[in-house]
Amino acid sequence: MSKFDFDLFTIGGGSGGVRASRFATKLGARVAVAEGAQFGGTCVNVGCIPKKLMSIASHYKDDYADAVGFGWGLARPTFDWATLQTRKDHEIARLNAIYAGGLHSSGVKIVEGWAQVLDAHSVLVNGKTYTAEYILVATGSKPVHAQVAGAKLAITSDDFFHLDSQPGRVLVYGGGYIAVELASILHGLGTQTAIAYRGPSLLKGFDADLGAHLAQQMAARGLALKLGTKVLSIESRADARLVCFDDGTTLDVDQVIFATGRAPNTQGLGLAEVGVALAGNGAVVVDQQLRSSVSSIFAVGDVVNRLALTPVATSEGMLVAEYLFGKSGRTINYALVPTAVFSHPCVASVGLSEDQARAQGHQLSIFRSIFTPLRHTLSGRAEKALMKLVVDAQTDRVLGAHLVGPEAGEIIQGFAVALTCGATKAQFDATLGVHPTMAEEFVTMREPATA
Ligand SMILES: Cc1cc2nc3c(=O)[nH]c(=O)nc-3n(C[C@H](O)[C@H](O)[C@H](O)COP(=O)(O)OP(=O)(O)OC[C@H]3O[C@@H](n4cnc5c(N)ncnc54)[C@H](O)[C@@H]3O)c2cc1C
Repeated sequence: MSKFDFDLFTIGGGSGGVRASRFATKLGARVAVAEGAQFGGTCVNVGCIPKKLMSIASHYKDDYADAVGFGWGLARPTFDWATLQTRKDHEIARLNAIYAGGLHSSGVKIVEGWAQVLDAHSVLVNGKTYTAEYILVATGSKPVHAQVAGAKLAITSDDFFHLDSQPGRVLVYGGGYIAVELASILHGLGTQTAIAYRGPSLLKGFDADLGAHLAQQMAARGLALKLGTKVLSIESRADARLVCFDDGTTLDVDQVIFATGRAPNTQGLGLAEVGVALAGNGAVVVDQQLRSSVSSIFAVGDVVNRLALTPVATSEGMLVAEYLFGKSGRTINYALVPTAVFSHPCVASVGLSEDQARAQGHQLSIFRSIFTPLRHTLSGRAEKALMKLVVDAQTDRVLGAHLVGPEAGEIIQGFAVALTCGATKAQFDATLGVHPTMAEEFVTMREPATA
């Protein structure tokens, strides 16, 4: 009989924590999970799911407009923000219940409340102490406000998903994936939208062609882009906001949304006090098995700040459960994590960017194609797709696949399998295309753009 109440105590019922807890019970462990807010975490409540639902909603504007080129005559469509919010919230409540129900039916003990680590084997929730052989920190991350005068007047992505009414004019401050997604949603739903970003190009960390191409396409859709520009201050003006930039210009908007980064949720958790090493940004420092500097404490997901994506958090959660209770030595290949940006148009990527591959010393063949997707030959929309392969010129191995265009997120998943299998360009060339699709371009590009 164990001297602990549980084999595993998980703090945080989001993507990583729920997956780890359910997996651990399947492997025979006695598990409890503490959640201070809603089960499902960021992804379900204020991340992937509401974002994608709102992105789909905003795409209808394009679909209505594009249909005209195919012969459809349409009455002017209208959009109702309250209907979308209500239906989205209803779906999220359904998912919250599924997450909690799944834990319950797997035999995980649910502890509702905010947890704090007391020592290497004890956790405090609502005044009650629970002991466990292992503690898993899966507390996620939270949005950070930019350091500008009047920052309190801005909202973050968390607040965006709960806005009661649709703002007429918005400035999104940031150039990462959350910034371009929120800006695309708002613009598509009819809000007059601008993006300001202090860096020179969008989507830092992605292949540079993607950010440059996306910026062109977003600008062509009528979004105002102010790159290389910092917000200096935000002032309150009756119901509106006056934003002052470092280039001397100003902008009147109804809302400013900060998409200026996220910080790991470790404040007040008691981790440093029990000897868990934290990085400068507060992230839990872990080894390949996600073990912290205290051997009984593990951490997964956004709180370790490796790649802040749901499939990474869930994969890490499974890895910890398998390692502790299934005795597996599996590790995660962070180099080949596919990802999509649900901007309009969509962006997707797997593997190395051209710059990363060059920095790693590869000699490269680059294959690039920019073309009009078939649907836009009749829709009349002036939108171009971009597809790019980064290939090692010596081994012929495809190191990276990147694209901007309709359904990019759906397309990249299969190519992620190919890259995970170590596919070469010759194998891409030997693969027959599906015609007529956008994806076939990945297997029909023959001429390298650069040697
Ligand atoms: C706007 C937005 C869009 C996104 N879109 C995508 C996307 O399209 N695809 C994708 O893969 N990823 C996306 N992400 C990222 C994804 O949501 C996160 O990577 C993922 O949710 C991380 O999972 P996690 O388990 O680490 O943390 P979370 O899912 O955030 O879960 C952490 C949980 O811990 C709880 N908690 C925190 N502290 C305590 C405590 N002391 N006691 C008890 N409970 C606590 C929190 O309430 C929360 O429920 C998006 C994120 C945002 C913000």
